[in-house]
Amino acid sequence: MALDHVNTGDLADAARLADAIKVSIGTAGVLGLAEVVQHDPPTTAYLMVGDRCGRDCAFCAQARSSRARANALSRVTWPPYDAAETVARLADAYLAGRLRRACLQVTATPDSLARAEEIVARIRAMSKIPISASVALRHAEDAARLFAAGADRLALALDAATPELFERLKTPGWQRQCNLLAELAERFPGRISTHLIVGLGETEADLVRCFAWLTERGICIGLFAFTPVPGTALADRLPPALASYRRVQAARCLIAQGRLDVAQMRFSSEGQIVSYGLSSRQLAALLGSGDAFRTAGCPDCNRPYYNERPGGVMYNYPRPLTPHEVQEAVAIVQSALTTPTP
Ligand code: SF4
Repeated sequence: MALDHVNTGDLADAARLADAIKVSIGTAGVLGLAEVVQHDPPTTAYLMVGDRCGRDCAFCAQARSSRARANALSRVTWPPYDAAETVARLADAYLAGRLRRACLQVTATPDSLARAEEIVARIRAMSKIPISASVALRHAEDAARLFAAGADRLALALDAATPELFERLKTPGWQRQCNLLAELAERFPGRISTHLIVGLGETEADLVRCFAWLTERGICIGLFAFTPVPGTALADRLPPALASYRRVQAARCLIAQGRLDVAQMRFSSEGQIVSYGLSSRQLAALLGSGDAFRTAGCPDCNRPYYNERPGGVMYNYPRPLTPHEVQEAVAIVQSALTTPTP
């Protein structure tokens, strides 16, 4: 989504709507709610439910103490639109093949779960579009409510790959969150996702351990590159190095595909991946489609320019890579391998 030109109409009027929903600006473009010139449109419609979040994640624009704009999440702007019109347009866009999924990003406020349930039911009443929701679930019964309303998948965000980072940057309760993820994965097999952010201070080895634990339970991983947002507690932290992100993307993809034996991987003393336990020829063949470097998450979730600036470093490709891009990405992964591969 290159925002060469954006015309969101009269946002002040939209903000006064009684039945408003926030829509990511790229999604608003696909739905015809805003004029947005974009080269890589979203294939999932991203909608935000709830006001400023009651939680206080250090990296999030919607966090309780964040001073970021109220309509921001990561790099993206989310203007409000009339919910009924948005849902009707979404149903049409799905039928026309312009969207393949809808995703609700639900902030933690007292009434946001009920509102999410209502919006899911409204979308389901008008469309068969697969629906995901990323929600701060308290227990499995919350998930059961959203599935009953018509959601296909639910994401419970881990965000941080270690208990220390989770508790420092989010909230106490890492173990509780892991237990809930495991319980949800068992009760709703194949329907649970999570989010992990690369670049919060974890090592590549921490992420690989996390990928293996989640994959064993059939939990799908949405991978994000940390993006500093002005007004948040981590506004001054740098995004991850691209080489590190590529190594981690390769590991996530191959673990999810069951093509990597984590026990055969080797790490430096700083926790950097130095061997995947594969020869460079095997590795190049396994990564040759370029899929490892595309946006990871629920099926058809491409989150264009969520972590990237147009023309800047492309952490997650929102579309198939060109052969040159694949070559470049694989070379970056290979260049990091400092131990002889079998
Ligand atoms: S992976 Fe994508 S579609 Fe799934 S919950 Fe996360 S943002 Fe939504």
